[in-house]
Order: sequence, then C-alpha cells, then structure tokens
Amino acid sequence: AQRIVLASRPQGAVTLGNFRLEDFDLPEPGDGEVAVRVTHFSLDPYMRGRMDAAKSYSAPIEVGAPMEGAGVGVVIASKARGLAEGDLVTGDLGWASHAVRSGKGLIKLDPALPPTTALGVLGMPGFTGWHGLNAYGQPKAGETLVVAAATGPVGSMVGQLAKKYGLRTVGIAGGAEKCRLATEMFGFDACLDHRAHADGREMRAAIAEAAPDGVDIYFENVAGKVLDGVLPLMNTGGRIPLCGMVAYYDLDAPPDGPDQLPRLWRTVLVKRLAIRGFIISDHWDRFPTFLGEVAPLVADGTVKYLEDVAEGLENAPAAFMAMLKGGNRGKQIVKL
Ligand code: NDP
Repeated sequence: AQRIVLASRPQGAVTLGNFRLEDFDLPEPGDGEVAVRVTHFSLDPYMRGRMDAAKSYSAPIEVGAPMEGAGVGVVIASKARGLAEGDLVTGDLGWASHAVRSGKGLIKLDPALPPTTALGVLGMPGFTGWHGLNAYGQPKAGETLVVAAATGPVGSMVGQLAKKYGLRTVGIAGGAEKCRLATEMFGFDACLDHRAHADGREMRAAIAEAAPDGVDIYFENVAGKVLDGVLPLMNTGGRIPLCGMVAYYDLDAPPDGPDQLPRLWRTVLVKRLAIRGFIISDHWDRFPTFLGEVAPLVADGTVKYLEDVAEGLENAPAAFMAMLKGGNRGKQIVKL
C-alpha cells in the first residue's frame, strides 16, 4: 500500500518538498476493524493548519506521520460487526491507497448518491456551511449575505441555502469563470472577482454596488481584503459566522500595514455586530439533522455541487497546494 506523509513543516506557503510518498505494509484488521481500499479522499483547507507545529483546534500532524483526512472506499476485509466486504464507507482514511480502521469510526454510505458527495456537499464542508449559516447567521428573508470562496463546498452551500431562504446573495470568487459558475450554477444574485480588486478599498466599492442595502450576514471564509472591504458595509445588528480565513493560513507573522484593530473594534461596537467563531467538529450531533434536511435537496437537484477531481495519490500534494491558492473548481477530491 502507499500513503503520503508529512516530510517537513512549511515555512510560509506549502511546497512539494513538505510531502513524501512512501510504501507501507497494510496490517491485518484486528477485532472490530476493517481494511478499506480507498477510492477517493478529500483535500481541505484546514489540513494546512495541521501541517504547522502550533496547537490549533486539532493536534499537529507529526513530521514523518501520514497525512490525515476524510475519504471514501470499499471494505476489502472485515472483522467489524455491521460491515462486510464490498460495503462503501466514509471516515478518516488519510492520504493513502488503503487503510485499516475501527469499524466504529466509519459510516456506511447510501448507495443511491455518488460516494464523493460524502466528502463535499453532504460531508464536513457542506455541513459546515449549513450549520454556520443557520446557527450563527440567523438568515431572514429580504436580508443580504456575502460569502467568499463562493464556488467551494462551504461557500456554495451557504449561498444556495441563503437564496432558498429569500436573501440577496453576493458571492466573491477568484476569476471570471468561477463568478460565472457562482451565478449560473449556484444562483448567486451577483458575484465579484476578488482578483480584479487590488485592495480592501476596491473590494468595498464593488461590494457596495452589489449590496445596495448593506450587508446583514458576512459568512467569513477568507478574511484579507474581502473582510477589509465588507466590514464598513455591515448593517446594524449584522452577523459574521467566522468559519475560516484562508488568506491568512500561510502567515507566520502579522502582515505589514496599518493596525486595523481600532477600526475593527469600533465597527463591532457601533454596528452591534455578532461575530461567532465555530469549529464544526464540536457539532457532529447536528449532522443527522443536516443530512435529513439537505440530502433530499441534493438528490432532487435543488442543491447543486461541483467537484474537482485530481487523479492519483502522487498528485495530491500539488492539488492541495493549488486549492489553497484557488486553483480548484469546486470541492477538491483525489481519485485513486
Ligand atoms: P474551498 O474549496 O473553497 O477552497 C479554498 C478557496 O479559498 C480557494 O478555492 C479560493 O477560492 C479561496 N481563496 C484562497 N485564497 C484566497 C484569498 N487570499 N482571498 C480570497 N479567497 C481566497 O474551501 P472550503 O469550501 O473547503 O472551505 C472554505 C473555508 O471554510 C476555509 O477557510 C476553510 O478553512 C473553512 N472551513 C472551516 C471549518 C470550521 O470548522 N470552522 C470547516 C470547514 C471549512 P477563489 O478562487 O474563489 O478565491
């Protein structure tokens, strides 16, 4: 079997040299365990944080240890009750061709839906969008929502649900093609290309035009110049579910430039903003409710999803690096 391990920690941006492909012997499954042949695995922005030594909400991956993350695969041997050879399962299978895992950590997939949906639209990212929007965004018909990384699995879920709830939705994405997808496929009322706007001031002007009534919900995925631009446009009583800040993931020191803290703090006070950081792994108890609500919408085509599939374990590092810079078109998956 083969897997990808963390060869060294990134200094700033991730490089190919931070990873190593290695062979390993797949152990026999013990009592309660199954062996899985991985067919697909997920590349997610949070994995960038796990490559650093600093303790975040999940422990760092040790240098030399396998890269972890969600995957789907076929059971090839089972000593776990309820799982049999040939079953399709999802769980933390890692960046690997095969995995042996406790049956308790695996979920059997509904064969009616494409298995890759368990990694994106109906997996952790889609769940993140659904939970963050409903629990902390508190969307109301007639309001305006802004979300960046609008064609990714989190942003596209947020935008589609908000539209369904009757909000005006403004997406922000990298490039004209992604903006076209945002409006045509995901139904955003408007989409702005952040690459066409050099700084926060330019972003602000563009967002102001797309959101003439101001912004009630800013679903935070990226920070950087998008946050800078949207903050002054927040309406009184606005909500900011703080989900991610991908523009800052490579920073190992504060960026150069003026100290924005006074302006930020004043805006939070004067506009009575509710900013709520959340980590989705605290909320798995809500996952069945999410699936019950959203899986039928995916099955009947109401909620659309886009997947970007890289082929081959050896190509996972390059696909991961590209995804962090916006090279992905939809949920980034690796197919084996
Ligand atoms: P995506 O598939 O959308 O990939 C990340 C995207 O970020 C890129 O495609 C790119 O899109 C955008 N991006 C990268 N750099 C910048 C930048 N400097 N400025 C603006 N946009 C940028 O990722 P996900 O949908 O999986 O995740 C979205 C966010 O949600 C991430 O921040 C992630 O960390 C966070 N998250 C948080 C969770 C939690 O528990 N809090 C759980 C899951 C995800 P584009 O080309 O359109 O700019």
